[in-house]
Amino acid sequence: MTAKIIDGKQIAADMRAKLRADVAALAKKGVVPGLGVILVGDDPASKSYVTAKQKACEEIGIYSDDNRLSASISQKELMSHINRLNKDPRIHGILTQLPLPDTIDELEVLMAIDPAKDVDGFHPINVGKMVTGQKAFLPCTPHGVVQLLIKSGVKIEGADVVIVGRSNIVGKPLANILIQKSPLGNATVTVCHTRTRNLAEHTKRADIVIAAAGCPNTITADMIKDGAVVIDVGVNRVEDSTKKAGYRLVGDVDFENVKEKASLITPVPGGVGPMTITMLLYNAVESAKHAAGLLK
Ligand code: NAP
Repeated sequence: MTAKIIDGKQIAADMRAKLRADVAALAKKGVVPGLGVILVGDDPASKSYVTAKQKACEEIGIYSDDNRLSASISQKELMSHINRLNKDPRIHGILTQLPLPDTIDELEVLMAIDPAKDVDGFHPINVGKMVTGQKAFLPCTPHGVVQLLIKSGVKIEGADVVIVGRSNIVGKPLANILIQKSPLGNATVTVCHTRTRNLAEHTKRADIVIAAAGCPNTITADMIKDGAVVIDVGVNRVEDSTKKAGYRLVGDVDFENVKEKASLITPVPGGVGPMTITMLLYNAVESAKHAAGLLK
């Protein structure tokens, strides 16, 4: 069997078109969703993520308040930027690009963001709401993975799902979303990590394998069952002298071989990546609707 490729770019483009229409409808009611963006330092990867997020905001009509701050900023000064955005009624979502410099207490910064504007879904209040099945901002990458599955027609309910990775931003929240008694969940989920005794034993019985390990070739063809759905969250740089940049991006899955055994598979790039930004836009628009009293 050769897998059908899940086109994350197309699914994301369709969702963004719907969001653009939502934003236009909000504009008629005098509501413009706003996103406050904080980038500290000049890490090239963080800069390019932030630029991509702002470009995506512009494309669908979200107002963006750009704060590019020096790596030498003090904790106090950074907190004053967060407080200003918390108070600004034009801002419905606050995005702090991680990682922050070592001199900054990251947890204190994330905790200071108003939970009602926490469009990354990292604030413990939103994490707690998600875990207990209450309405909350869902973290963007995990929510993007679930939307990719749903929009590709994959039945999540009752599926055996194996997630490889237990980080606070991908593996753990994804497991939580997928076990909820909700249309996004009802799966039976196993979460694997570096202390898992026999990774292949778990992945081989999964209907859906989701790799979020950050290590190329973590999932090979012998580790999955015929017809499994394989979602690759990983983004890794591997040296490639044929490329101008000297590297290329690969996921955690041995794509060429796994695609011959899976029924559906995401590529890297062009799979999960475009969905992460889309779900950020989604959260910002939902937050604006909520602030305007248009949602319960
Ligand atoms: P992370 O914080 O480094 O966590 C990686 C997790 O994978 C850890 O729980 C680790 O286990 C586990 N792991 C690593 N190697 C493993 C192996 N060989 N077998 C089993 N488990 C293994 O990474 P992250 O932030 O979750 O990100 C994961 C990957 O997704 C990265 O490549 C990242 O760049 C990518 N990512 C992509 C997007 C996107 O939008 N496409 C967004 C976020 C992240 P331990 O806990 O035991 O160490």
